[in-house]
Amino acid sequence: MVAELPSRLHPAGRRQPAIRHGNASAVLRAVLSLGPAARSEIAAATGLSQVSVGRQAADLIAAGLLREQAPVPSSDLGRPRVPLEIDLNTHRVAGIHIGLRRTSLGVTDLRGNLLQRIELNHHSTDPAEIVEQAAQAIERLQRRPLGLGVAVGGWVRSETGTVVENDALGWRDVPLGTALRQRLQIPTWVESNVRAMALAESWLGGGEAAASLAYVFVGNVIGAGLVIGRALHRGPQGAAGALAHIPLSDRSVTCQCGREGCFQALASDSALVARAEDQKLSTGGDLSHLIALARAGNQAADALLRTRARHIGEGIALLVDLLDPELVVLSGSGTLDAPEYLDEIRREAAARAHTDFDPSNLIVPTRFGADAVVVGPCGLVLDAIYQRPIETLV
Ligand SMILES: [Zn+2]
Repeated sequence: MVAELPSRLHPAGRRQPAIRHGNASAVLRAVLSLGPAARSEIAAATGLSQVSVGRQAADLIAAGLLREQAPVPSSDLGRPRVPLEIDLNTHRVAGIHIGLRRTSLGVTDLRGNLLQRIELNHHSTDPAEIVEQAAQAIERLQRRPLGLGVAVGGWVRSETGTVVENDALGWRDVPLGTALRQRLQIPTWVESNVRAMALAESWLGGGEAAASLAYVFVGNVIGAGLVIGRALHRGPQGAAGALAHIPLSDRSVTCQCGREGCFQALASDSALVARAEDQKLSTGGDLSHLIALARAGNQAADALLRTRARHIGEGIALLVDLLDPELVVLSGSGTLDAPEYLDEIRREAAARAHTDFDPSNLIVPTRFGADAVVVGPCGLVLDAIYQRPIETLV
């Protein structure tokens, strides 16, 4: 809720731009969360006066962020109510996920509904080529997007839009944000993949947006995105959420880092496939084959996946005790490809954590499924719009 400042802080007769922006954000967020709502309902939800809501709504309608729905007759013969809804037609936002082999481009409306997804296969990992390929695809979109979100793995400095280090692509200190902004002349935000997905989930994860959320990605790498008080927590070095080398209680495996029992050494896709190969299970180096074996009744394969689920649950218990988040969202092949092990993850997390919680409500798979990689970067633009609607459009 954004309250009005005490009157002594208002110079007489002058509008306060910063306050107006805060209020515009509150009105827009209320409609995002309530769905179609009358001005009086928005006033009640935000604590703003109806006059203030009316003023903000007029600006937001003019900016193409809100729209009025058809009037609904009032039950008490008073004036009909005119619900406001997020304008899903005027603006589009774009997001790209830059992977090793391809760039995935997504286009959403202002509620994060994915309208289009395009895959661009890389010809090389040269940053200039990848930027040009993405820029051309964005220029070919039917409508010029309001902004561009960029998600990429590795170590990312979001303040400067720089990829500090991405081992898979072989990138060091690549000024990705500047390159795309200059090429396309649209506002551009760059963030690490898992953090972009965490932010999108906190805004758009359905129903009431979660103010605090831990997003846990388990695939070939393991990491977390942390949203606290509706904002991403990055840490001064941009290193927050580095779950990979947190030690779990099972010390049977030595990690590449030299220590024993690291989360990633126990539970990543490649760790699991390597363990399966050690047990003479034929996976062809592919986790999906191990899952298929377990589904066909192979007990050794099932035991490996069950143990992994317990490792994931133990990692989540640590996060829950540290953060007490409203929601833990799971993503990556470790959870999405074998949903039959989700309850094992939940059971272990509840058993290990000291905090009391209902595991089925707290720990949920991402609602975006395999599209999370493109909805995530679109969420970077949506975050800017919902936090600072007027400034973002100027
Ligand atoms: Zn390690």
